[in-house]
Amino acid sequence: MYYKLPEFEYKRAENLHQALDVLKEGDWKILAGGTDLILDMKIGRQSPKKILDITRLGELRYVRAYNGKMFIGGGSRLQELLENALVKEKLPLLSSAIYEMASWQIRNVATIAGNICNASPAADSAPPLLIYDAKVKLSSSSGSRTLPISEFFLGPRKTAISSYELLEEIEVPTLDGYFQWYYKLGRRHAFTLSVVSAAVALKIENGIFSDVRIALGSVAPKPVRAYTVENELKGKEANVSEIERAVEKVAEDISPISDVRASAEYRFKATKALLKEALFKGMKYFGGGSG
Ligand SMILES: Cc1cc2nc3c(=O)[nH]c(=O)nc-3n(C[C@H](O)[C@H](O)[C@H](O)COP(=O)(O)OP(=O)(O)OC[C@H]3O[C@@H](n4cnc5c(N)ncnc54)[C@H](O)[C@@H]3O)c2cc1C
Repeated sequence: MYYKLPEFEYKRAENLHQALDVLKEGDWKILAGGTDLILDMKIGRQSPKKILDITRLGELRYVRAYNGKMFIGGGSRLQELLENALVKEKLPLLSSAIYEMASWQIRNVATIAGNICNASPAADSAPPLLIYDAKVKLSSSSGSRTLPISEFFLGPRKTAISSYELLEEIEVPTLDGYFQWYYKLGRRHAFTLSVVSAAVALKIENGIFSDVRIALGSVAPKPVRAYTVENELKGKEANVSEIERAVEKVAEDISPISDVRASAEYRFKATKALLKEALFKGMKYFGGGSG
């Protein structure tokens, strides 16, 4: 069985200025790596009439560090980010998440902006970016605006970007002195979509949770921060009973569904187990805690 692409008008942008000029006309769909879009077109989930190819925009492929933040060009390939020493050192959660994504062949063409803009609840780069409180720079021919990533995801495959805009850059503050942990639970170990993915960053000072950040994928219509659990823990003593009590509240943060990969019930149980593991490990990292 093979799938045929529908007909479409095609333009290739040679630079960012040209790309934004074309987008101004309206109705153009951006093609970056094509690893989501082409598949969607083949199965009829999307049928854009006009495709703007931005694969040649080298100016969107960079990683820069400045003033406690990392700046990542939207066109950066996942494999480039995985091999980038700065990303590995400064953004370990993002690096771990990308390591778990797809295969070398896919990561070599797939872009980080494509992963975010496709807005799958299972997008693996999303939980780390939510933890870091990343911001996205959305550019059009009339200028740029910056949005927190938490406001960018609106629902399954829905984002706050308009058809005139292009995701140019991701601004990612780094977290120093934090315990950082990422886990992707899938139906098998490699080359799979997540059943649940969890990213956790935390700090314990004088036996107290001074900061806790938790982000989850594949357990809600969009990747989410577990603010209820975070707030239950912040300012509390770092001990087993506080963790067990707080983790039970995750039901207020997520709304998993049953699908081909897992049942909603399994996702609830797995989420709680992953969070406990991360929080216990965090406690150990900072010297134990009590209880
Ligand atoms: C075999 C296979 C395995 C996969 N495994 C995983 C996995 O483990 N984890 C995971 O999260 N994903 C996985 N994916 C999905 C996919 O590879 C990623 O989501 C990838 O990052 C998409 O990037 P892309 O550049 O190919 O996007 P495209 O397919 O080119 O675009 C995706 C969407 O983003 C839009 N877009 C792209 N760039 C921009 C931009 N700069 N500005 C505005 N809009 C833009 C496009 O218009 C389109 O709507 C897999 C896909 C395949 C085929």
